[in-house]
This record gives sequence, structure tokens and C-alpha cells, in this order.
Amino acid sequence: MDMPPTVDFMTATMSPATRLTGQMIIAGVPVSGTGTEIRGFDPAGDRPLDPPYRYGDADHVDTACAAAAEAFGPYRATTSEQRAQFLEAIAANIEAIAEALVTRAVAESGLPQARLTGEIGRTTGQLRLFADVLREGSWTGARIDPALPDRSPLPRPDIRQRSIPLGPVAVFSASNFPLAFSVAGGDTASALAAGCPVVVKGHDAHPGTSELVARAITDAVAATGMPAGTFSLLFGFGPELGVTLVTDPRIKAVGFTGSRSGGKALVAAAATRPEPIPVYAEMSSINPVFLLDGALTSRGADLGRAFVASLTMGSGQFCTNPGLVVAVDGPGLDTFVAAATDALAASPATPMLTPQIARNYAAGVETLTQTAQLIGRGETADQENACRAALFTTDARSFLASDELQTEVFGSSSLIVRCADVAEMHAVAAGVEGQLTATVHADDADLDTARSLLPLLELKVGRILFGGWPTGVEVCHAMVHGGPSPATSDSRTTSVGARAIERYLRPVCYQNVPASLLPSAIADGNPDRLWRRIDGRLTQD
Ligand code: NAP
Repeated sequence: MDMPPTVDFMTATMSPATRLTGQMIIAGVPVSGTGTEIRGFDPAGDRPLDPPYRYGDADHVDTACAAAAEAFGPYRATTSEQRAQFLEAIAANIEAIAEALVTRAVAESGLPQARLTGEIGRTTGQLRLFADVLREGSWTGARIDPALPDRSPLPRPDIRQRSIPLGPVAVFSASNFPLAFSVAGGDTASALAAGCPVVVKGHDAHPGTSELVARAITDAVAATGMPAGTFSLLFGFGPELGVTLVTDPRIKAVGFTGSRSGGKALVAAAATRPEPIPVYAEMSSINPVFLLDGALTSRGADLGRAFVASLTMGSGQFCTNPGLVVAVDGPGLDTFVAAATDALAASPATPMLTPQIARNYAAGVETLTQTAQLIGRGETADQENACRAALFTTDARSFLASDELQTEVFGSSSLIVRCADVAEMHAVAAGVEGQLTATVHADDADLDTARSLLPLLELKVGRILFGGWPTGVEVCHAMVHGGPSPATSDSRTTSVGARAIERYLRPVCYQNVPASLLPSAIADGNPDRLWRRIDGRLTQD
């Protein structure tokens, strides 16, 4: 495989926007940490990268939260148009340093250049989507129930409603999307769009990428006249700095993507605050794929090969990785398995994001080997930190009896569950934990079975796909990237797509408030030209 180019990101010949300083950024000011030294690590070359960074401490959290709290008033008072322009400025700044950003992210993650180039587009696309959401205006949730003074037996007062931002938000970057779910990723973009200042806890796996993106945001803050405390980036150990951040009384919500243990720890920390706050944690998922009989019979081999392509993409380091395949035993499934194991045997081992994630993967595969039958492996690894794909099988009864078999192995590992009949397939669908996605491969002959599965799947997942594979999450208005626990900590929301903004808003009702004091979203005459629900009817009047 291609080694990432070695670039000295500290050299004085680089532009200020791409020169790394090894610092955090608190309310526009570069600040050196005081704690443990960390470095980016190139998992493909198995070498640490310059510059060193140091963890922040409780004082840094305090400074960032104080600045965010101070920024909240003026920031939430900005218009939708001003915030849209701010988000667009961040996107433009990221594009302006795209080459350096991709080079650094490749070095820090081991992910291919094409993938990270695509992630730049996804990151800027998310920022621009939320700019569109702001301009479109329905995020305000404006409703007006005009007064009914003559109503009998009691008159109705004038009642109006709009949504306001919650306050400063703590965002925990994900390791597996160094751009799209990191410093300027979906959680940050949706919180900033809502009117919430953001304090990011950067991920140790890509500090240099984080610093570059933080600089792009900070420059946009200054250029668009936003308050300095609108954005800060801190580094630190999760159970210390991360928990200090989540328990700071000025933080009003949390966005997180990562492990189940990390997400649950933050939910617990937030719940024990004197004022508990919502934590939107996107955690683990094994994303069941249901292969129905007609589809297996007509195209079992094609499905087997396509499954392996999805399983091994990005070393399987996706929360939507197809970690579970469910089908009724028979010749169609045998054809699928034969094609999948052949394709797997030819899959090269590719680097994982960090040595620790590679060790977790190896341990997870080892554990599964004790409880399920190993039927296929990828090519052996000739380098450190690589993911050698693994495929297991078991029967439905064993699956349903074992919690271990439902545990996510983060990486290219999947389990095929052989069912005796459709009833057993239903039992598996009903027995899986909450998931981000469920995929169904069905031909016309399978529609009755598919129809019977759908109500079960709706209760288990945030997104149901027919055909295709769950990896690849479109950023759009109708997307749901969420699902019941333990896939996420709150099944009522999504972390991808336009509705992600709703996580950081709350409704406020204004009863008999004098017209001259009403916010413009719910003012008489509709000065913002919003679609509003007046007396229950949507209108732009
Ligand atoms: P992680 O360990 O959950 O870390 C994510 C973030 O949460 C880091 O900033 C981490 O800080 C913090 N954190 C972790 N445990 C914490 C705790 N007890 N209290 C406070 N903060 C905590 O995830 P990761 O480093 O990205 O990867 C590790 C494992 O997570 C993977 O092997 C995989 O199983 C899973 N993962 C899942 C997904 C998914 O989408 N489902 C995505 C990525 C990773 P520190 O690093 O300082 O601890």
C-alpha cells in the first residue's frame, strides 16, 4: 500500500493556516496544554508524528466554558442569515486548506487519500446543508394560536411558540471520521447552526487534523464577527478533562460518537449533575443484513462479493459496518457464503486508525472465535496495526442465547446467523439490540416475508434499507443516523442530516407577550417570511 507522504507541518515555510503549533485553541487564542504529551500517530508507518501536544487541565475547561457562556447571548442573537454565512465561511476555509488537511489526516489515520478527500466534501456539505436549513427557517418551529377573546366559557389567550438554542454544547470528536465527525463535523455544525457555542474535546488519534480544522473555524469566527467564545478546541483524557467538561454547569448538551463504554460514561456523568443535560451519544451497532430467499437464489454470489466490499471498506471502521447477516439455511445461503469467503480471502489487511483500535479488533475476533465458527479470513497482515478481516457463522438459537455474539467488533468482522425458517429469522430480528440500520435484500418473490419483517425492524433501528449496504450515510433532510439504545443514547434524534439541529433546541411558549416584545420568528406580519403553523395550519402569511 502507498505510504503517506512525510510532511513537516511545523516548518515556517508553510502558510499560517496549515502550520501546526501543537496548541489547543480557546476562544480564538492558541493555548499550550500542561498535562500528558500526546502525538498524532501514523498507523500505516507505525511512527509518531510531530508536533507534540499536551492535554489541557481543569483551568482550560473553565476558560473555554466561561468564554462559551459569555458568547451564548450575542451568538444566539445573530440572525439565521448571519449564522448561515458563518457556517459557509468555515466550509470555505476548510476547502482552502484541503490539500494539507488531507495529507495530515492520511498520516494520522491510515485511511486512504480518496476517502479523506471525500470526507472534506462531506464535511463542507454538512456545513452548507445547515446554512440552507437556517435560511429555510422551519427549524424555528414557529406556531401561533391567536387569542380567542370571545370563546366561551373561557377566552383563549394569545399563545405562540418558537425554538431556542440550549446553550454551550460539548462535542466529543470521533476517531473514525477525522473530518466529518470530528472538530467541524456533524455535531459541531448542527450545534453552531442551532445557535449554541461549541467546546470540542479533540480525539487523540488526530490532533494535527483537529488543530488545522480548529484554525479554519476560528478564522471564520473572526471574519464573520461572531463572539470569540463561539468555538474552542481542547485536548485531554476523556475520564478527566472530558468528564470535567460534561459536568461544567455552563455546558447544556453533549454530542458524542465512539464506544459504548465512553458514551455510557458521559451519559452517567451528565445525569448526576445538579442540572442533568441531554447527551446524544452514537455508540455501537452491528447493523443486521437480512438476506431473503428469492434474492439469495437469484444472486447469492453477487451479494456475497458486495457484502465483503462493504465489510472491508475503511478496515470496517464504520458504525454502519454490516456486522451481522441473517438468512434461512439453504443452497442460496451456501452460494452467498462461498462467494463471500472467496472474496474475503483476497482482501488485503489494511491499517486501522490507532494501535489500540487494532488491538481491540484482534481481541474481539479472538473472543468470537471461542463462541462462533470461524469460516473465512482476509489476507494476513504484513504490517503493524492492520485489520485482517474475519467471517463467522452460528445458528439462530446460539445467537439468541448469547450476549457476546451481539457485541460489536469494531473492524472488518461479521457473523452469519443461519436460521431454520422465516419464523426463526423473525425471532432474530426481534431479539437483536437497538441498531443504527437494518438492511433487507429481497426480490419480488420475497415481498410477503419483507412485509412481515418491516414492523419488527422499525422497532429496532433508525434506518431501514432495501438493497445496497449500510456503509455510506447520505447527508440530507430525510436521513436518520440514530436508533434505539444501545446504538444511541436517545432514539428520538439523528446525528446526521438536517434534523440533527433539533437536538440542540428547545421550544419556548410565549403567552400574551406584548407584540413589540415578540421575537421576529413569531411576530405579527411575519417579518422573517417563515412557514408558520397558525391555528394549526401551515402558512407563510
Ligand atoms: P472511545 O474510546 O469511545 O473515545 C471517544 C472519545 O470519548 C474520546 O475522546 C475519549 O477520550 C472519550 N472517552 C472514552 N471513554 C470515556 C470515559 N469513560 N469518560 C469520558 N470520556 C471518554 O472511542 P475511540 O477511541 O474512537 O475508539 C475506541 C472504540 O470505540 C473502538 O474500538 C470501537 O469499538 C468504538 N468506536 C465505535 C464507533 C461507532 O461509530 N460505533 C466509532 C468509533 C469507535 P480518551 O481517548 O481520552 O479516552
